[in-house]
Amino acid sequence: MRDEQRLLDALGRGLLKEFPNPDRTGCPGSAVLKRIASHEMPLAEAEKWLDHLTSCSPCYREFSELQAGYRHRRMQTVLAIAATILIVIGVAGWALFFKENGPPVVQTALLDLRNRSISRGGEVNPGEQPLEISRRVRHLNVYLPLGSAEGPYEMRVATTAGSAVFATSGVASLKDGLTSIQGDVDLFSASSGQYVLQIRRPNSEWNSYPLLLR
Ligand SMILES: [Zn+2]
Repeated sequence: MRDEQRLLDALGRGLLKEFPNPDRTGCPGSAVLKRIASHEMPLAEAEKWLDHLTSCSPCYREFSELQAGYRHRRMQTVLAIAATILIVIGVAGWALFFKENGPPVVQTALLDLRNRSISRGGEVNPGEQPLEISRRVRHLNVYLPLGSAEGPYEMRVATTAGSAVFATSGVASLKDGLTSIQGDVDLFSASSGQYVLQIRRPNSEWNSYPLLLR
């Protein structure tokens, strides 16, 4: 293709002027030139016109223009296809992002510890049903066990081996007989599985609850 073009370019500079053919003797006509320029005509069939094209300036000029137009349209098609591919990749990327990460909304989880048995220290009570939250949760609202005092609390999520993957602190408040504490969390980098939610007043022992991160 490129060699063909280089040859035609070299020939063309002379061809455009050196073979005037005012009567258009032996010219194949626009329809044939168009088919050659757009590569619709098989090379075997086009071959018989090549002698004429290289010895008739008007035909050569018309052929060059048709070929340039064909290249331009083909480039536009290629660009349109490329743009479509980019759009499809973009949409697929977003779809994948949402599938992996969920929609970008702030999720709040409610953890109700009011009727949970209290387990002091780092261990959880065996047989205790785990609390469940999504790793995507960004905000926790925790109802503390009945009779819990107001004031500052520390809250953390730890592995079952005891190392914290997230820690925060907040102030619990009492309203209608319910002591609750709110806090922002970021658990997305933790893998799903079994964890322990631990809550304590400063300088006290942890109260531990089994937690399942989904
Ligand atoms: Zn001609």
